[in-house]
Amino acid sequence: MRMATSGGGNYRNGTYRSSLKVDKPLALNSNPKSSVKSKPLSSSGPRRNSTGSLSAATGAAKDDAGVPGRVRVAVRLRPRIAEESVADADFADCVELQPELKRLKLRKNNWDSDTYEFDEVLTEFASQKRVYEVVAKPVVESVLDGYNGTIMAYGQTGTGKTYTLGRLGEEDTAARGIMVRAMEDILADISLESDSVLVSYLQLYMETIQDLLDPPNDNISIVEDPKTGDVSLPGASLVEIRNQKSFLELLRLGEAHRFAANTKLNTESSRSHAILMVHVKRSVKGRQSALSSENGANSHKMLKPPIVRKGKLVVVDLAGSERIDKSGSEGHALEEAKSINLSLSALGKCINALAENSAHVPVRDSKLTRLLKDSFGGSARTSLVITIGPSPLHRGETASTIMFGQRAMKVENMLKLKEEFDYKSLSRRLDIQLDKLIAEHERQQKAFEDEIERISIEAQTRISEVERNYEEALEKERLKYQKDYMESIKKLEEQLVKNQQKHGNEKVPVKLKDDGSALTSNTESSKVSTVEEVTELKKVLQKESLLRKAAEEEVNSLKNQLAQCKRSEASGNSDILKLRNMLENEARQKEKLEGEIAILHGQLLQLSFEADETRIRLDRGGSEVPGGLDSLVSQVKLQQQESTNGEKASVAKLFEQVGLQKILSLLEAEDADVRIHAVKVVANLAAEETNQGKIVEAGGLTSLLMLLRSSEDETIHRVAAGAIANLAMNETNQELIMAQSGIGLLSMTAANAEDPQTLRMVAGAIANLCGNDKLQMKLRGEGGIKALLGMVRCRHPDVLAQVARGIANFAKCESRASTQGTKTGRSLLIEDGALPWIVQNANNEASPIRRHIELALCHLAQHEANAKDMISGGALWELVRISRDCSREDIRTLAHRTLTASPTFQAEMRRLRMDY
Ligand code: ADP
Ligand code: MG
Repeated sequence: MRMATSGGGNYRNGTYRSSLKVDKPLALNSNPKSSVKSKPLSSSGPRRNSTGSLSAATGAAKDDAGVPGRVRVAVRLRPRIAEESVADADFADCVELQPELKRLKLRKNNWDSDTYEFDEVLTEFASQKRVYEVVAKPVVESVLDGYNGTIMAYGQTGTGKTYTLGRLGEEDTAARGIMVRAMEDILADISLESDSVLVSYLQLYMETIQDLLDPPNDNISIVEDPKTGDVSLPGASLVEIRNQKSFLELLRLGEAHRFAANTKLNTESSRSHAILMVHVKRSVKGRQSALSSENGANSHKMLKPPIVRKGKLVVVDLAGSERIDKSGSEGHALEEAKSINLSLSALGKCINALAENSAHVPVRDSKLTRLLKDSFGGSARTSLVITIGPSPLHRGETASTIMFGQRAMKVENMLKLKEEFDYKSLSRRLDIQLDKLIAEHERQQKAFEDEIERISIEAQTRISEVERNYEEALEKERLKYQKDYMESIKKLEEQLVKNQQKHGNEKVPVKLKDDGSALTSNTESSKVSTVEEVTELKKVLQKESLLRKAAEEEVNSLKNQLAQCKRSEASGNSDILKLRNMLENEARQKEKLEGEIAILHGQLLQLSFEADETRIRLDRGGSEVPGGLDSLVSQVKLQQQESTNGEKASVAKLFEQVGLQKILSLLEAEDADVRIHAVKVVANLAAEETNQGKIVEAGGLTSLLMLLRSSEDETIHRVAAGAIANLAMNETNQELIMAQSGIGLLSMTAANAEDPQTLRMVAGAIANLCGNDKLQMKLRGEGGIKALLGMVRCRHPDVLAQVARGIANFAKCESRASTQGTKTGRSLLIEDGALPWIVQNANNEASPIRRHIELALCHLAQHEANAKDMISGGALWELVRISRDCSREDIRTLAHRTLTASPTFQAEMRRLRMDY
């Protein structure tokens, strides 16, 4: 770099201008926004005015480019001191200041001088206050706003660097230097709650950094952040400053420790560089922050890290800039002076390089240049004050100081806002919040679980209570409706049957309309009473159907419950089945025993017969019946003695030995007793299936039928009918019986009989005949059905059971014939008026009767021809009942199938709104 020449020109910002023509402050060209430059004196005005540039800086921070900020340089002239006044008395000052023009004239000789422009020219009369405001205040304000800042004094020893920067001003507050005033401004601006000020005070001497606050710590290393390039001194003490007093104490302490080497020029001057570092950390609220707008999308306050600005103010009181030969140092001091010069000359080289925009800036050549990396060519706002003395004796040093200042003015920095997210404090804040939330969550979780527990227990109790109540109510309802239902159906049927009979008798044709209401014809015979009755009936019907509907609904609602019950009954049913099997076994056993009893009975008869015969013979005086009953009787006796062989064998033997013909012949004996005994023997023989053929072959059947006709004796009738009944189990015999007018004879016998057992035998015989498919028409034609029905006058259950069996047999054969197509039209049973009795006894409490009738109803129902009569006769209700309630599953299924297969029944049930 060339220095200003005698030609009166100099370089500013790389532009050569004639020094004479300079009339504009350089600063305005360089950075019109700079507060330092534009209006240095007004910087004491409102704070934001003086930092107007910072809004631009904030804006620039977003693109990270920074704001150009040239290094500001002020020159300060020290007044003459006493000894200079004496020494220099004959000489004029070597400099002449033009503060209004911010110019300095350096006298070359008596007639020529060079003119230099500075950012500020401070005369020997400039107060400390003004110096602070012009040189330091803008930098301090930048630091408070989050920028790095440097204030540095350069000059020959004794020119007032320490005076400018470091005076404490304790005896004279007006004398306070830049450090003290800067801290005053900082402390006034920050908030002690949210911001912090930390201070290090160091000195650099012979390329060694020493902690002035902790002098034994004298080898502090410089650490550079490899990413940001930021320089820090982690080894240095950091003292938090919370008031001015503590700062003054810190400075005093530092000063006391400061190494000062005597020089010829000034015993108080220091050969070391003193460095004060002030770290200002401020939290930024809301919109003030450049980062906050970047972070705008993140609206959640909790996750928004606080933003901090970290400004660092570095105040450097450099060692004297005088050349070593003038300092008069010797020995150790010489080495020292070299080291001092090393850092200073490295600083000069760096500034030269920066001023010339050189590609290489030798920052790493010294500790001082490394420490001031950010201050020159970096991101800090830098203000340099160069101090000069007036004495012409030091004209050379003064000139060199001025040139240093001139070059420094060309150094451009890029100011950058040191703003960052305070993740650490966010993390701390979030940790605390998280702890709170976890505790709260655990508390709520516990409360929630307790509540759930409580509710579920309560619900359980309520559910079981409701279930219990519901089951009880349901069961009660079910029973009630079942009872009502059955009763009303029964009543309705009775009413219907009665009504039908009445109408039948009165020959008033009644048609049933679809809705079930009765409609009398227009014939003249309709009577008021009938109409009333019908209306009443209609009402009853409607009422009943409503009732039934309700009942049906109830039944439906209970169905599920019943189904459940049934499932639970399933196990019970298997027990019932077992019991039933046992019962059937018992019944078979009983039957067998009954058969045996019958045989024994026969033998008993035989014996009494024999006794009678013997008595007669004795009465006649010993006359014999040749080959007759005597031998028979004796045989019987013999057999009786050998009774251990069993009765069957004995009867069979009797039968063989006496001969059937003889026995049969006795049926026609004159003696009534003999006839009785004979018929008993024959009856007993007929009970054995093996004898039946022989009996019939020998004309026994004919004889028995004859007895029915000829005898008046009811015993004979009973026994003969029993025998006939036994023989009527065989199909051929059935035809024979029919061929010999058996029905007529049996009917006659029935009509005259009074003994229920006689009727039972007759009914049994007819019942057997009813089971023959071929004989249906004949049997009916000869009054067989009527005869059966006639016998129901006797209410003995045995008789009724046989009647029911006969009807069931007949219905079965008819059903078969209808299916085969050999029979058409409605059932002969219905023709002969059997239906009312059938319906009446369909639910007879005696199970043999009930079973036969249930079967008969099912058979009848299988043919549509019978359906109408069955409906009007009330048989439909019975079928429905059977299909639901019958304890025998096969019959229940049969009834159900029959009902669902019949369109007529289906239609009727729909009409009655029966849900089937
Ligand atoms: P340096 O630190 O540059 O070696 P000093 O600050 O120690 O110089 O100053 C040397 C002497 O000059 C001191 O006695 C100081 O009081 C005095 N001095 C310096 N500048 C001024 C000034 N502007 N006004 C009055 N006295 C000053
Ligand atoms: Mg000094």
